[in-house]
Amino acid sequence: MVVGDFAVELDTVVIGSGPGGYVAAIRAAQLGQKVAIIERDAIGGTCLNVGCIPSKALINAGHVYHNAKHGDFFGINAGEITVDFKRTQQWKDEEVVGKLTGGVAMLLKKNKVDIIRGEAFFVDDHHLRVIHEDSAESYAFKHAIIATGSRPIQIPGFEFSKRVLDSTGALALTEIPKDLVVIGGGYIGSELAGAFANFGTKVTILEGSPQIIPTFEKDMVSLVETDFKKKQVDIITNAMAKEAVTEGDRVTVKYEVGGKVHSVEADYCLVTVGRRPNTDDMGLEQAGVKLAERGLIEVDNQGRTNVDNIFAIGDAVPGAALAHKASYEGKVAAQAISGDNSAVVDYVAMPAVCFTDPELASVGHTLASAKEAGLDVQASKFPFGANGRALSLNATNGFVRLITTKAGNILVGAQVAGPNASDVISELTLAVESGMNAEDIALTIHSHPSLSEVTMDASELALGMPIHI
Ligand code: FAD
Repeated sequence: MVVGDFAVELDTVVIGSGPGGYVAAIRAAQLGQKVAIIERDAIGGTCLNVGCIPSKALINAGHVYHNAKHGDFFGINAGEITVDFKRTQQWKDEEVVGKLTGGVAMLLKKNKVDIIRGEAFFVDDHHLRVIHEDSAESYAFKHAIIATGSRPIQIPGFEFSKRVLDSTGALALTEIPKDLVVIGGGYIGSELAGAFANFGTKVTILEGSPQIIPTFEKDMVSLVETDFKKKQVDIITNAMAKEAVTEGDRVTVKYEVGGKVHSVEADYCLVTVGRRPNTDDMGLEQAGVKLAERGLIEVDNQGRTNVDNIFAIGDAVPGAALAHKASYEGKVAAQAISGDNSAVVDYVAMPAVCFTDPELASVGHTLASAKEAGLDVQASKFPFGANGRALSLNATNGFVRLITTKAGNILVGAQVAGPNASDVISELTLAVESGMNAEDIALTIHSHPSLSEVTMDASELALGMPIHI
């Protein structure tokens, strides 16, 4: 079905300008496509505006405050330390988010990607309409990439309001809460709980499963739990959140544990129980695109949906909801659309990071998943406590664990819990991706003193010849 005049003809149209969409658009343009990107909200999507970047800015500001208050350990006493939280937020919004999103808009322009403002709706599999305020434009396209991302899930009894917040609301607070209840101790909930705890907020986490951050192993998460305890964060596991009742400036959260109902009161309640893909209300059925479970779009290993010329990437498709996964899928889809079928997605070396204290990071197999997959492997765990750089940073909490095959010492996975785990994991990701073995890492000269030496030490441990332990 074709409706109206389709004045503008495009090779490739990308819907959504998050880390999936803008990267796909730029790559498709680099490969010679005439590309337009459609965005209904702010350029940069969830990640740059209300996700990865602003959350890490607040986490860092919390560290600065917490470390300044605890400098006496190093013999540094700064006197009374106060937070001007409005300034913190202004720095985050203008000097971090603003600069980055402005930079992405510039990159799109430089690569001759047209930015179309408005909300996209498919009319059929080669046409869409974009509605912006009171006007609507129509476009014809050869290929489309759906990169519409996701939004927070709202649960019954916890309608979002001034006191009941989603992650976007928590990141935009203009005051540091005295107390905060976090429903859902996954990675987003635990990261924000940690950020506010560092600012001095009394935090309570209510988690439905037996462990917070359940995607990481128990020995990693217990380091975070210990840190939370030190910062008076209450973690209540196996808890079912029932409802939030707001009275004036306070909110009371009722929850059930083992059949008993309890309640906890706070300035704010933050609900981080998961995200839902933005795949509804955009005419996918008119384009013939089929949805799988939970509204996610099923795709092949190049991001192609069941409709040949329509692709989907990022949080809108199955798999981990991570910015780097979205960008990676965006590049593969852009290549496929441009006629290069050499690239297909391979998630073997997909890192995942949680920016708690300490940071947690993993790539590839855990010991358990490797065994389940039938691999004959061993685990080698080296502590940051034996690393000079970690000692000089007063950040010795944690370890690196390598999972290597018994035959050939090939690295099939790694976990890092400790200072800068988010960066330390990169070398191990490259090693997993390249099929390197423990000798390759052990024989690589690592700068000294550095946290990355832990990977060399863990490799020597895997080879049975550790120097530093
Ligand atoms: P998004 O970034 O969600 O972008 C989708 C865009 O599409 C949005 O701008 C939206 O407005 C637009 N859009 C939707 N529908 C339409 C339409 N019909 N027409 C026009 N435009 C439309 N991931 C990490 O890897 N590391 C982290 O540290 C991290 N921290 C996070 C912290 C928080 C608080 C949150 C909420 C998320 C975090 N994430 C993190 C997850 C990460 O933000 C997402 O995985 C990532 O943004 C997904 O990218 P995307 O391109 O698929 O979609």
